[in-house]
Formats: sequence, C-alpha cells, structure tokens
Amino acid sequence: MTTTLITGGTVVSATGRAAADVLIDGEKIVGVLTPGSVLLGTDLAESADTVIDATGKYVIPGGIDAHTHFELPFGGTEASDTFESGTRAAAWGGTTTVIDFAVQTTGTKVQDGLAKWHAKAAGNCAIDYGFHQIMGGVDDDSLKAMAGFVDEGITSYKMFMAYPGVFYSDDGQILRAMQKAADYGLLTMMHAENGPAIDVLAAQLVEAGKTTPYFHGIARAWQMEEEATHRAIMLAQLTNAPLYVVHVSAKQAVQQLAWARDNGQNVFGETCPQYLYLSLEEQLGAVSKEWGDFEGAKWVCSTPLRSREEGHQDHMWQALRTNDLQMVSTDHCPFCMKGQKDLGIGDFRKIPNGIGSVEHRMDLMYQGVVTGELTLERWVELTSTTPARMFGMYGQKGVITPGADADVVVYDPNGHTSIGIGDGKTHHMNMDHSAWEGFEIDGHVDTVISRGKVIVDRNQYLGAKGDGKFIKRGLSQYLI
Ligand SMILES: [Zn+2]
Ligand SMILES: [Zn+2]
Repeated sequence: MTTTLITGGTVVSATGRAAADVLIDGEKIVGVLTPGSVLLGTDLAESADTVIDATGKYVIPGGIDAHTHFELPFGGTEASDTFESGTRAAAWGGTTTVIDFAVQTTGTKVQDGLAKWHAKAAGNCAIDYGFHQIMGGVDDDSLKAMAGFVDEGITSYKMFMAYPGVFYSDDGQILRAMQKAADYGLLTMMHAENGPAIDVLAAQLVEAGKTTPYFHGIARAWQMEEEATHRAIMLAQLTNAPLYVVHVSAKQAVQQLAWARDNGQNVFGETCPQYLYLSLEEQLGAVSKEWGDFEGAKWVCSTPLRSREEGHQDHMWQALRTNDLQMVSTDHCPFCMKGQKDLGIGDFRKIPNGIGSVEHRMDLMYQGVVTGELTLERWVELTSTTPARMFGMYGQKGVITPGADADVVVYDPNGHTSIGIGDGKTHHMNMDHSAWEGFEIDGHVDTVISRGKVIVDRNQYLGAKGDGKFIKRGLSQYLI
C-alpha cells in the first residue's frame, strides 16, 4: 500500500475546522492527526510515500454532485458530456463523486434503462459515481421493479411533474410510486413544475411571436413551481414518503418546503449555482453580437433562471443558510450552442434544456464564502457532507475521518480561478461556450485525491478513465 500525508493544512468539516495532518493508506483515510505527530516512533513526514504540503490551504472532503446528466438523450439531441469527459471535468473542479440519473422512458423497462446507464459509465469514469433512477413511465411493471432498487444500490428515484409525453407522471402515477417508495425506504426526487399548464403558456407565447429564450423564463412562471412543489408535498404527506425537490429556483417554492419541514415532514430541497448567481433579466434576456437575442439560449434550463427584481437569488442564499434548502448540486446537462441549442432559434420550446456546471460548483460555492453568504463549514456541508448523508454514502464519502474513502481536495484560498472558455481560459467540459464566462473566483482547487490517488495536482491531470467505480448507496441518512 502507498501512503500519503497531507500536512500543514486546515481540515474543514461541516462542523468545524482545525490544523491537522491527514494520513492516507491505499484508498482510505487512516488518520487525522495533530500536526507533526510522531506515531509509534515513526516520523510520518519521512516515512510516507508522498507528502503534500497544504500549508495555508484548506483540506476538505471531495465534492459530491448529486445531480448530473451525462449522455442524456433530450430534446432531439444528447447531453454533450460523456461519462468520461464529464467526470474528468468534475475532477478538475474538486468533485470526486457524482450521482447521475439512469433513465426509464414511457414504454420501456426500468431494468433496461439502468443496464444502459451501467454500460455507459463502466470503465469510463474519472471519479466514483452512483445512480438515481428516473421513472419516466410509472405503470404496473415499473412499480414492481422498485422492489429491486435498494439491492441495486439505487435508493432514490426521480419523477417529473413537467415534460408531458417525455418524462411526465400524473398525480395518480406519483401517488402510486410514492406508496411503494414509502414501503421500500426510497427517497422520491421530484422535478416540481406544472408541465401541462406551462406547455399551454409556452404555446400561447410562441403564437404571439414571443419566441426568444427570454420567454422560456416567462412560460415557466414561479406560480408553476410553487403549485407543483405544494402538490408534491401533499402527495408525500399522504403517503408518508420522504421527498427531495430538485433544482429549486423560486422563493415561493422554498417557502412551501420550509412550511412542510416546520410541520415535521421529511421534505428537502436542492438549489444549483445558476439560481444563486444568474437571472432572467441578465442571462435569458441577454443579447450578443454572435447570437443576437438568441444569446440567452446558453442559460435555458428548467426550472428557469428567475427575475432578480423579484429577489429569488437572494432568497436562495438565505435558504441555504437557514437549512430550508440543504444542498447544492449542478443539474449539469450540457448542450453546445452550435448544432444543439440552435435547434430552438425561432422557437424557445425547441432549445434543449440545460446548463453545464459540474466543473465549477465547488469554486462557485466557495465564492459565496468569500462574499460572506456562507461560512467555510457550511460550504463543505452543502457540497459534500449533506449530499453524502442525503443519498446514503456518509462515512464512506463526505467526511475526512479514519475509515472513509480518501477523497480529499486541497483548496487554496489565496489562489485564483478565472472561469470560462474564451480569452485563453479553457474549461474541461465538452461545450462550445460557458454559462459562467467571466466569473472570477478568489480560490483555487490545487490537489484532488480520489480514493487515495492524486488525479489533479496544480493544474495537471493525473487521472485516467476507469479510476472511478460504481458506488452502491444505502438508504438516506438525513431523514428525521
Ligand atoms: Zn429536472
Ligand atoms: Zn436534472
């Protein structure tokens, strides 16, 4: 076994920070020690195979992004990152575990969808990965299949209240799936938007000649998110099924979650960096030389970016502090402008929905520490510890402690990161643009260790495809 000592840094956890050295043996953390420890008469700094000097830097558990879509067929095209390119980009940004969504669509078997996702990912990933199961066709057959999810290590599944004809489940289907989920201990993830009503609004806008990306945000009004969130909460309450609402962007939806939690319900929510930083006015309404008023297509995602004037972004930051929202994931779903997003020129409904952020989540959230929105500890909690607990990996992931997987990031608060693809900056995601062009981060991911192997070190990629393995997850460790 090879040993690695990370020395001189400040180890940050969800509950505190301390000067400590981290000793890694093979794939596991074996010690968190007082600096300069002499253990059993051995000087660790001299006997370790590798010594990483983390003086002046933070040593944190590797990021866990619980919401990615690699190689997802959607909107007549396919998300542009493969498991290989997407997980490598994640590694560059200090994320050492992703949870992607295996897809079942109407009329297909759940088991076949899962097998397909295993085949896409196996041997291709730079970092560890798990799966949630998308249920895109709730029927007798797929409900029966839910009995096998826990054995497969897939303890969460997702339904959609939007996208009629693609992924949509009606309330009766949702009710039936939640009844099963409550029986099996599964966590129900929900895309909470009233799809049928949105589709009517969108058609009316297009008919009236309002076809630019800006109107994607108008059609998907906050009332549609609030209403669906409330409906999901009520169905979950009735069936006693724990509920996790994905990509929350409307402050009114957060208020629904907070209300349910105050009533003692197992209800949780994630938001994403785009809902903290970006807006309807500035991004969806953007105009550029290259794309004109189609520029906003870069930021077409669902739920949509919301009006800054209405205060949604500030409310998301606040909800992350008060734990009305518990996690930040990316909903990484990248599409290029040329050949993909441009399918929607003249009709915003045809723009593939998605933003690529898997590489930038740790940095973007760290900037929230710099600007005083979050504490250092809350940063670690939102990006690693809670995702591990929420999705049944805590102890193995999400914490720096003896016995945990050695997924560790050395983060330099005195470093700097310029995000983007233009002006000599090159991200590692497979996209022809960046939704984050021009963002400057007052920090830098220096070293990334995945199960004991250094895969990124000071702007050098040292990993390989196949380094990452499938993680069988347990039941949620976050339930009340
Ligand atoms: Zn969604
Ligand atoms: Zn998604």
